[in-house]
Amino acid sequence: MWSWAIVIGLRKKSDFTEVTLAGFLSSVIDVDHFFLAGSLSLKAALTLPRRPILHCSTVIPVMALTLKLIMHLFRLKDSWCFLPWMLFISWTSHHVRDGIRHGLWICPFGKTAPLPYWLAFMDPANGRSDNPGEEAVKIHSGILQASQ
Ligand SMILES: [Zn+2]
Repeated sequence: MWSWAIVIGLRKKSDFTEVTLAGFLSSVIDVDHFFLAGSLSLKAALTLPRRPILHCSTVIPVMALTLKLIMHLFRLKDSWCFLPWMLFISWTSHHVRDGIRHGLWICPFGKTAPLPYWLAFMDPANGRSDNPGEEAVKIHSGILQASQ
C-alpha cells in the first residue's frame, strides 16, 4: 500500500483510491493460505505444510504480464494502465516482507535463504513483522545484548 503511495506520490484525491487498491492487492495474497488449508481457521491457515501458490515469487511477473496482455487484448482504458505495475509492486512488497522470515520461493527452482532484515526498511510499508510483539522482543533483546 505505502509502496504504491511512494511510487505515485499522493498528489490528488484519486491517488488515495489507488493506494487503497494497492493495499487490497498486497493483502489479498494471503487468502491463498485459507484456500490451501481448506478452512477459514486462522490456525489452519498459519500451519500449512507448504507455502500456498500466490507466495511463489515467480507468479508475480507472470500475473503482471498476463494482466498487461489482457488489458491490451481487451483494449481496456488507458486510465487503468497502472494496474499491472501496481500488482507487481504490491505483491513484491508482500513477498519481500514474507521473505525476511521464510526466504523467497522461486518455483520451480526452490527457495532462497531468508532475506536480510534491512531489506524490509527499503520499503516503509515492510518495516513491520507479522508479529510486532515478537519483533519488539527481538529488537529489545538485541539492544540488551549490544549494551552488555
Ligand atoms: Zn503472505
